Amino acid sequence: DIDPELREAVEDVILNRRADAGDRLLALAKRFVGEAVGGGHVRDLAWREKPVDERISYALVEGIADFIEEDTEEARQAATRPLDVIEGPLMGGMNRVGDLFGEGKMFLPQVVKSARVMKKAVAWLLPYMESEKGGAKRARGRILMATVKGDVHDIGKNIVGVVLACNNYEVIDLGVMVSVAKILEAAREKKVDIIGVSGLITPSLEEMAHVAGEMKRLGFKVPLLIGGATTSRTHTAVKVAPQYDGATIYVKDASRAVGVVSKLLGSECERYVSGIAKEYEIVRGHYAAKQQTDRLVSLAAARANAPRIAWADYEPPKPHEPGIRVFRDFSLEDIRRYIDWTPFFHVWQVRGSYPKILDDPDKGEVARKLFDEAQAILERMIEERWVEARSVVGLFPANRIAPETVAIYADERRTSELTRLHFLRQQQHKPAGKFNYSLADFVAPVESGRADWMGAFAVTAGLGTAERAQAFVDANDDYSAIMVKALSDRLAEAFAELMHARVRRELWGYVPDETLDNAAFIAERYQGIRPAPGYPACPEHTEKAKLWSLLDVSARTGIELTESFAMWPAAAVSGWYFSHPDSRYYALGKIDREQVADYAERKGMSLEAAERWLAQNLAYDPGTEQPLTMRATGTG
Ligand code: SAH
Repeated sequence: DIDPELREAVEDVILNRRADAGDRLLALAKRFVGEAVGGGHVRDLAWREKPVDERISYALVEGIADFIEEDTEEARQAATRPLDVIEGPLMGGMNRVGDLFGEGKMFLPQVVKSARVMKKAVAWLLPYMESEKGGAKRARGRILMATVKGDVHDIGKNIVGVVLACNNYEVIDLGVMVSVAKILEAAREKKVDIIGVSGLITPSLEEMAHVAGEMKRLGFKVPLLIGGATTSRTHTAVKVAPQYDGATIYVKDASRAVGVVSKLLGSECERYVSGIAKEYEIVRGHYAAKQQTDRLVSLAAARANAPRIAWADYEPPKPHEPGIRVFRDFSLEDIRRYIDWTPFFHVWQVRGSYPKILDDPDKGEVARKLFDEAQAILERMIEERWVEARSVVGLFPANRIAPETVAIYADERRTSELTRLHFLRQQQHKPAGKFNYSLADFVAPVESGRADWMGAFAVTAGLGTAERAQAFVDANDDYSAIMVKALSDRLAEAFAELMHARVRRELWGYVPDETLDNAAFIAERYQGIRPAPGYPACPEHTEKAKLWSLLDVSARTGIELTESFAMWPAAAVSGWYFSHPDSRYYALGKIDREQVADYAERKGMSLEAAERWLAQNLAYDPGTEQPLTMRATGTG
């Protein structure tokens, strides 16, 4: 496809066919400047003609890293001190990026790419600066960031770190699974101005409250920022802020981080903090009021209102391949076809649903570019085997043996049990015709005489991700590091989708001729569900331990559990399979003390432990034992 004249010149260079091949190619190249290169992208190099300061600024705003080292070098030679390059054109360019992002005129992927250009430029200058005394101008503030103990998710934290750093804040990132002791020790030692903690899984919500309590106990005064997917303003106001005397502030996403931090470190700090405190007081009021009006029914009434499945008329499907199957080094190319791209755009805060987002009048251009770059990295991940995908699935004889308990049997005689799964039941007061669900409802009760089955699975597409991402970070390329993690997450979810489809069609085979396209998968228009322990229908994380021992997940796939039951590698999904056509996702919601006590007893767990693991679902305050929620009289 290459123009014949250009091709000849290129071949002359590659094959070393003539002495002046290089010069001829350069001369010819001028003619092709601005022409479409690869897939119709116009690459206009006219900006290369501008003065060096303008080129640096342009490269920063456009996120172009290709020429930054030569431009930085040129600027360094022209400057008195290398530091002048940082404080002059580089900071000038980054300030512009910060402003544009703040004004909503620039999107997150562009900012992260700009930061990459900045990092590369600074890295280039660093060797020249070491001999020089004085150091760089002090940053606007020093911020410590960490993903809390037991949690491994750090994409959001890393993005916030990049955005803060490119606004000239010094970021000390302690990484993932960081204990409160380590966080506070580092905060003291480095005299940080602000501490930011992040996490994704629900046990991290408790850990954050613990961090706040420790900060109070140890006499800290610096502001505490709370972030991560399951955190919220309500959680911060109700559970975290009351534990600490200093400012405690929820930061919704990376676009808010700079605003919050600059207010906290600016002259208006006091006014800002007291404003937040008042706002959170109101949030706590609303929360308490809502607890009063949310009506719960007794556990007995909830059980009486369980969904009614006519087991007498239903023959549970028997798996074609019962038992455990392991898949290693699974084809990433096959997995790729099952990717749901919408959440990928959310990670980058280019919100909207795929594929519509690509044609969005405002975000379309950014979305298309992001998508193209993601495809290019994904291509390399697959071809160069950056990550390995492994999974294990198991299908077992199972029956419900109590209202919320399912027994998993060793074999089809159903006489010896491998384990018991303990579920919970919704206790909200339901309007007539709506049920109080438990996942156990979807498995045939032992007294029905039906031989039912359940499945379990764990998949990962993240073996290798952390190492690859770290290599990018070491090369000053946070953009690609975040990409690799976000794409690994996508592949893991896609793998879960693919395995589920395969289970329905082949291994369990209860819908052998299922024909659905990817849109139908994403909309979950198939029979059966795969609820994940820790998610709304079964929010108690410790049940994951049973899944791990049933399938021997660690040995078979390399996926490990942290003390909070987060999966490592982070790009992993696990859950149960239910096949019944009525099975569905729902949120457990709040439950009362009676059910928590019942659950603790079933599990052989102390009440306190059960209350800790179910903290997000308690309708009462375990400290005071006061019900936060009124008991409804009827069953609905
Ligand atoms: N296609 C999406 C899937 C998101 S939901 C993606 O690629 O990101 C991811 C998983 O969360 C589901 O497959 C299921 O395992 C779990 N899940 C969703 N809602 C749930 C609920 N209410 N209770 C338990 N698990 C749930």
